[in-house]
Amino acid sequence: MVSVEERYEHLEKTIRGYNISADLTQIRAAYEYAREHHGEQMRRDGSPYITHPIHVAQIVAEMRLDSESIIAALLHDCIEDTDCSYEDIAKLFSVTVADIVDGVTKLTRVKYSTMEEEQMENLRKMLFAMSRDIRVILIKIADRLHNMRTMEYQTPAKQKKKAFETMEIYAPIAHRLGLAKMKWELEDLSLKYLDPVAYDDIARKLEIAKSEHGQFMSAVQEEITTRLQELNVPHATVYGRVKHPYSIYRKMYLQEKTMEELYDLFAFRALVDTVQDCYNVLGVIHDIYKPILGRFKDYIATPKPNMYQSLHTTVIGEEGIPFEVQIRTYDMHAINEYGVAAHWKYKQGIKREGGEADYEWIRRLLENQEDADAEEFIHSLKVDMFADEVFVFTPRGDVINLPAGATPIDFAYSIHSAIGNTMVGAKINGRMVGFDYQLHNGDVVEINTSKSAHGPSRDWMKIAKSSEARSKIRQWFKRERREENIAQGRASFEAELKHVGLTMSQITASDVLPSILKRVSFQSLDEMYAAIGYGGLTALKAVNRVRDELLQINRAAAMAKAAEEAAARAAQEARAAQEARSALPRKVKSEKGIVVEGLSNCLVKFSKCCAPVPGDEIIGFITRGYGVSVHRKDCPNADPRRRTPADQGRWIKVSWSDDIRDSYTTGLEVVCKDRTNLLVDISTAVSTCKVNISNLNVHTTADGFAIFHLTLSVTDSRQLDQVMRKIHQISSVMKVNRPAG
Ligand code: MN
Repeated sequence: MVSVEERYEHLEKTIRGYNISADLTQIRAAYEYAREHHGEQMRRDGSPYITHPIHVAQIVAEMRLDSESIIAALLHDCIEDTDCSYEDIAKLFSVTVADIVDGVTKLTRVKYSTMEEEQMENLRKMLFAMSRDIRVILIKIADRLHNMRTMEYQTPAKQKKKAFETMEIYAPIAHRLGLAKMKWELEDLSLKYLDPVAYDDIARKLEIAKSEHGQFMSAVQEEITTRLQELNVPHATVYGRVKHPYSIYRKMYLQEKTMEELYDLFAFRALVDTVQDCYNVLGVIHDIYKPILGRFKDYIATPKPNMYQSLHTTVIGEEGIPFEVQIRTYDMHAINEYGVAAHWKYKQGIKREGGEADYEWIRRLLENQEDADAEEFIHSLKVDMFADEVFVFTPRGDVINLPAGATPIDFAYSIHSAIGNTMVGAKINGRMVGFDYQLHNGDVVEINTSKSAHGPSRDWMKIAKSSEARSKIRQWFKRERREENIAQGRASFEAELKHVGLTMSQITASDVLPSILKRVSFQSLDEMYAAIGYGGLTALKAVNRVRDELLQINRAAAMAKAAEEAAARAAQEARAAQEARSALPRKVKSEKGIVVEGLSNCLVKFSKCCAPVPGDEIIGFITRGYGVSVHRKDCPNADPRRRTPADQGRWIKVSWSDDIRDSYTTGLEVVCKDRTNLLVDISTAVSTCKVNISNLNVHTTADGFAIFHLTLSVTDSRQLDQVMRKIHQISSVMKVNRPAG
């Protein structure tokens, strides 16, 4: 067991190793302050809490960051988890340190509740936009790395959630900052929890390969080293390693190969002083071993957008085993391993090509630092890449991207114009604010709407920052004049109607209205009124057509009625006979297991968007002409905030009756890290619950995910829950959803 004090001394030693002017007094003060404030708090593994900030500071020191970064790393959980405040830290240490700790705290508070692919890039951008100082995000990555290293003490659900976030958000950020070492470790640790079976398999096989080929590895290393010495290449270092489990996992997936079929599990590195030596070494390697055609890559002449530079070649050794050799200078190596963090120390000789829009921001980030030196570089590294955008959350956790300076009005209209038009208030992080409040990155925005809202005011057009909001407000005002047209048209239509002795209720009856509208060629009565209002149609003409249609309908109805009565009499007789046969009392039948309040015998259908099953909380919507459509209460289409005033009265209470059917069709969405046999595992899980799959489709994403859509027949929500639990237990499955909306 290493004591806390020993761990701290190790940290100090690491710092002294690269920064002779480090402020060790303040660093020790930060350590003691954090230790005192975390007090008796424990980590899940039973060690004192202070070991966590020390480890995070250790990772930060291995990135060779400045004293303020180390101090902030030691204090990074103080604001979140102890009683100390921003002001305390600013007073005892410095405003900069307090700002960094505050920044890390804000990132810690961001809740990732979405798993949708298109949201991930927004989340990554949001983290950058929130980290005004690059050190904030570097410390946050170090924090996440240590938490991933100690993830085994967490619950399986938390392990999967954190691993997914790490794979989708933190590893890509580490990659863009060029932090290769941390990126690999984050990915390997994530894979361990996302697809434990595959990870264990790869790790075990790598271990076997390492011991089987140890001899071969050291032979190659010696052979290259000797040749370089003979040719007087100065200060050359050569070493071999096996590749990372995640890189092998990815290759197996992308090339659809088993591990046995993959070549280059082994890689060697040669580090030298100069670029010239790199090309010399390449010549030597190709002289000793046979190069594989098309596998040579020159990232020195053309660096990767994250500044990575190296020569790569794959060759075949004497035993027929292929292996990759990476050749680079020591300076390049430091940047390749530590990226942005190392840049201030090793910035000579880097050509930047850029180009890819994805990396535009990092190019800008690096360009700003052209002539800054040492400590100053890291100080001036402000991440103001997304200065013209702001990223906020919906209450459900989706990220909405708005122009900088956006207000709750912009937010409301970006969700839906109906939300904007009925907005009566806004809450930011649970607190009421004015409509002109400027949104900040990471804010959770909630809009209050009301049926009786007066609609937007003309001032809103001035307050709104986005053109989308402004044009939707403009539209509303246009429609507002339309309301006047409608009111006028309606008045003259009704007067004309009275003249011919008809009433409105004769027209608006649900069994005649659709054919009347068809006859006058309008989508709705309002459309017709509007047309009458602005003079596109005379009220007289409209009423004549309506009257003709009504006459026709009534004639048809009379005939149908006569036929129906005859049929009813026949049915009545049949029923009487049936009842005579059966002495048992019978239950009143509901429609498809649904009882609609206040309505009997009405047509019921289950909405496709959320496919409710017995046990779900449900609500009905009286459609125009197709009976009642049943939604889950949590379906976005049933969200009370989305209801238009006109539809409000169509929402109706429905409930499950006692005579539900044997099976109901519903859907599931399953998000997984893709692998072989996944389909078999999922269908096995479903069938062990005695549930039938009636349809299944899958699509895979470029980054190795698979999304399954299953259509199932289940008896009720209990059985569905059981299926969802079973699927969730499958290795590499990350999320099981019931789609809605
Ligand atoms: Mn932490």
